[in-house]
Amino acid sequence: MPTATKAFAAHAATTPLGPLDIQRRDPKPGDVEIEILFCGVCHSDLHIARNEWGGTTYPVVPGHEILGRVTRVGDAVSRFKPGDLAAVGCMVDSCRTCDSCKRDMEQFCLNGATYTYNSPDAHSGGMTYGGYSQRVVCDEAFTLRVPTNLDPAAAAPLLCAGITTYSPLKRWGAGPGKRVGIVGLGGLGHMGVKFSRALGAHTVLFTTSAGKVEDGKRLGAHEVVISKDAKAMAEHAKSFDLIIDTVSADHDLNAYLNMLKLDGSLVLVGVPPSPQPVHAFGLIAPRRTLTGSLIGGIAETQEMLDFCGEHGIQCEIERIRMDQINEAYERMLRSDVKYRFVIDMASLR
Ligand code: NAP
Ligand code: ZN
Ligand code: ZN
Repeated sequence: MPTATKAFAAHAATTPLGPLDIQRRDPKPGDVEIEILFCGVCHSDLHIARNEWGGTTYPVVPGHEILGRVTRVGDAVSRFKPGDLAAVGCMVDSCRTCDSCKRDMEQFCLNGATYTYNSPDAHSGGMTYGGYSQRVVCDEAFTLRVPTNLDPAAAAPLLCAGITTYSPLKRWGAGPGKRVGIVGLGGLGHMGVKFSRALGAHTVLFTTSAGKVEDGKRLGAHEVVISKDAKAMAEHAKSFDLIIDTVSADHDLNAYLNMLKLDGSLVLVGVPPSPQPVHAFGLIAPRRTLTGSLIGGIAETQEMLDFCGEHGIQCEIERIRMDQINEAYERMLRSDVKYRFVIDMASLR
């Protein structure tokens, strides 16, 4: 018998989110059932709730920064037992046999990863529903262990904001002797600053918000530059090995390309809804790379969580009730998040 589960959903692109009753399957042999304690609010939730990228199927239950307590496990589950903390990020399954999956990069599954929400769900025949809900059922292979020394509410956003910044910083070699720029101090950006600093890179935050300078430094940035200040921006020309751009809205990429050294990389992780123009001159001299990065694989997500446990790294959060989600979206659009909203799911019970 599936379990009746309270959730919050977007029912259309232009209406506020509201309650929805959904069903969660009974745990199959390989499944873990989790009572959700906390779910982070990612800007992707807003993009998808409002169909800003196209492709949203309504009703959609967003939420892919899920942390909770295991309530039941299937017979074949070996790594989790009832009472354990467990987490689910942006994916709940993939084909597990393609080249990408075999290389632990399920996010690039050639047959299409099953995302935590708004993806076709092989179990229900409908769409997957995310973490704005009381419970979730997920295959053990896509369920993450959570270090017990972290505050569970402040660990939840690691499942997307954490891995999405950790993965490119590692991939492009952030570390001692490297100059790394992080663009935007929101959910992703503040974790980018923390990770870049923890990995030993000289870390520079670029923000549009003058009010975030002190926080940027407190979170680990060696320098903070207001990106609207042309003179301050010019001082950083051709000086970076790596820049991670987390901005969710239209902005000038050329300004950041021009800050890269020879062979430096600008990695887009933010997804503005429209294409952003790039001038060829910014790429050809001095031979720069413009690239992107999508979350991270399951093994790397576990590595990131363990790294956070070892270094005591967690997110700066503002707890909200489920019924404050629409107001939280509006604040997120005003860049007024300090620095991740996390829904206390007890407010839905
Ligand atoms: P967020 O908390 O809203 O942060 C975005 C930040 O971008 C803002 O805090 C603001 O920082 C800056 N910003 C906003 N509007 C801007 C504008 N018009 N010009 C310049 N800067 C602006 O969002 P988030 O949750 O971190 O997500 C950021 C983006 O990453 C979203 O597009 C999201 O969909 C995407 N994302 C991608 C992946 C992936 O795998 N690649 C994963 C998760 C999310 P300042 O106030 O400091 O300027
Ligand atoms: Zn996300
Ligand atoms: Zn695959």
